[in-house]
Amino acid sequence: MKLASYACNRWIDAAADAQPIPSAIDGTTIALASSGDVDFAAMAAHARTRGTRSLRRLTFQGRAALLKKLAQYLSDHKAPLYDLSAQTGATRRDSAIDIDGGIGTLFVYAGMGRRELPDTNMLIDGPQLSLSRNGSFVGRHVETPIDGIAVHVNAYNFPCWGMLEKLAPAFLAGVPCIVKPATQTAYLTEAMVRLIVASGLLPEGALQLVCGRLGDLFDHMTGQDLVSFTGSLETSLVLRNHPAIAANATRFIAERDSLNAAILGPDVAPGSPEFDIFVREVVREMTVKAGQKCTAIRRILVPAAQADAVADAIVQKLSRVVVGDPRAEGVTMGPLVGLGQRDDVRRRIDALLAEAEIVFGDPENPTAQGADPAAGGYLPPILLRARDPKRATALHRVEAFGPVSTLVAYDDLDDAITLARRGEGSLVATAVTYDPAVAGDLVFGIASYHGRLHLVDRDSAAESTGHGSPLPGLVHGGPGRAGGGEEMGGLRGLHHYLQRTALQGSPALLSRLTGHWNKGAPEVTGNAHPFRRGFDALALGETIHTAPRTVTLADIEHFAQFTGDTFYAHMDDEAARANPFFPGRVAHGYLLLSFAAGLFVDPAPGPVLANYGLDSLRFMKPVLPDDAIAVRLTVKQKSPRNADYG
Ligand code: NAP
Repeated sequence: MKLASYACNRWIDAAADAQPIPSAIDGTTIALASSGDVDFAAMAAHARTRGTRSLRRLTFQGRAALLKKLAQYLSDHKAPLYDLSAQTGATRRDSAIDIDGGIGTLFVYAGMGRRELPDTNMLIDGPQLSLSRNGSFVGRHVETPIDGIAVHVNAYNFPCWGMLEKLAPAFLAGVPCIVKPATQTAYLTEAMVRLIVASGLLPEGALQLVCGRLGDLFDHMTGQDLVSFTGSLETSLVLRNHPAIAANATRFIAERDSLNAAILGPDVAPGSPEFDIFVREVVREMTVKAGQKCTAIRRILVPAAQADAVADAIVQKLSRVVVGDPRAEGVTMGPLVGLGQRDDVRRRIDALLAEAEIVFGDPENPTAQGADPAAGGYLPPILLRARDPKRATALHRVEAFGPVSTLVAYDDLDDAITLARRGEGSLVATAVTYDPAVAGDLVFGIASYHGRLHLVDRDSAAESTGHGSPLPGLVHGGPGRAGGGEEMGGLRGLHHYLQRTALQGSPALLSRLTGHWNKGAPEVTGNAHPFRRGFDALALGETIHTAPRTVTLADIEHFAQFTGDTFYAHMDDEAARANPFFPGRVAHGYLLLSFAAGLFVDPAPGPVLANYGLDSLRFMKPVLPDDAIAVRLTVKQKSPRNADYG
């Protein structure tokens, strides 16, 4: 299979100098890749013109709707991807994380977009700020899509998820993407991009693919572009320091090496549910994707008194792991992506062995069920144990990107916190404890060193999503060594692709530009009650003022008896006066709200379907018996849901 790049609406076959990509299973050539015939300047220009234009013709809502269709299309056509995925060394379970996990991420972003984003290309960030005495000059922050390209450089371990978790927020934001998968597993990404192109769903120029090297693409980067990189520390340094990136302040997100820790609380002893939860979590993280996960547990921090028991329990489980051809019956862990990766992991194990000893696994003598262990990247899970945890340094620095983890004994909780921090910034840490005080100390001790903390105990273990699973709604990324980047985190992931701008002007102008009516902007008087007018007919700022209604003591007593809310502030004058907020008996806030509805509602059937709730409801000022209230009802914002209503 000759892998092609997809550039300027065309598939461009691998050039004559194409490099063979071996199968992880047996080393046979699966594909050939080279981007030698790609014109990168043309590719960048295509994204900047066609891509930007076609994406901006859609709004956030329009793009969310397309994303949902795309997720559905991929879900319906994913079956052949599984066969290819096995060639990367992935078991069926590993493939599901990559393929279905990636498609699931698209679904989640589509849903968030439909629920939470407007039908425009501008987001509002925060409230309007008053900047003048009379309110005629105000400020407001807005966010608009950057006018450039998102270049996504991905690691080899998640060829589908790695692409889609970056594509979803970029596409939703309205920024065209150029995706460069790691060459070792690019055949799976290419197959998925072929499906995406065949779906015909993405607008022209929204997605281009490079199978092979990036040529001179980075020379064409500008200050409106973004590079999102996932991979090793070494490569991230090369790319981050590229002259064009540095000179143009091109946005750069890095997700890279991470020496993630799992910490067993000092309160946990063998026989407790937390002990078993911890061991299960560690073994799962060592073996899923053969440990080739940026989130995998590399450092197992346990109280010194429990270190032997933990080691025994982990060894017991690891001895049941069956390494081999991921397609073979009974195999629970596949090979590493290739022989080169196995060599790299062995070298790193050697570095770790200067300070640790092997508790389980022989890196030099792998076995493989249904396969030749010498032909593929087969390696058993390797459990190491630090000889002198206080002095050891390599285990906090050296990432063996495979099924390798080091057990480290700690003296007390402070010691555990110190050790965890020595990773100098990680994507995730797990803490297993049933003592909230221990969990609290750990969280405050290490949170600033982590992008995510996974706290598990007997109450949450059954439904926990696991240490190693980044979720679309939660932040993925970490400080320091982990790259200092942040991805996903729900709609937070969109903000990388948007420029925040402070707008200053009159309330009328800002209301008009942002589509959010604000105090100080002129009110519009409609020619009929808003309940008699359809969604499209309503104008921003359209306002009605109702007649006043007096709230009587009898109303308050009736409401109290009817609802059962006989709180003293409404019923007992003396007690109400003793309260610092009330001069005497006051009307219920909910009574006022109900009276408000009675004032502004126009009751006959018409275009209004339902009231689905209130945002920012506050009861700021007491209303006393015989006070009068009135309602001002204004169209502040319109969010269409679909063709029928909004
Ligand atoms: P890598 O060797 O750094 O490669 C990452 C990507 O960079 C690949 O697409 C690679 O392409 C590309 N690349 C390498 N040199 C380049 C250059 N000079 N110019 C442009 N692109 C270049 O990393 P990997 O081996 O694929 O992945 C393993 C590493 O990724 C581990 O260290 C792991 O911790 C990290 N990782 C981190 C996360 C995270 O979210 N933090 C997730 C997964 C993996 P080629 O394949 O064509 O060389």
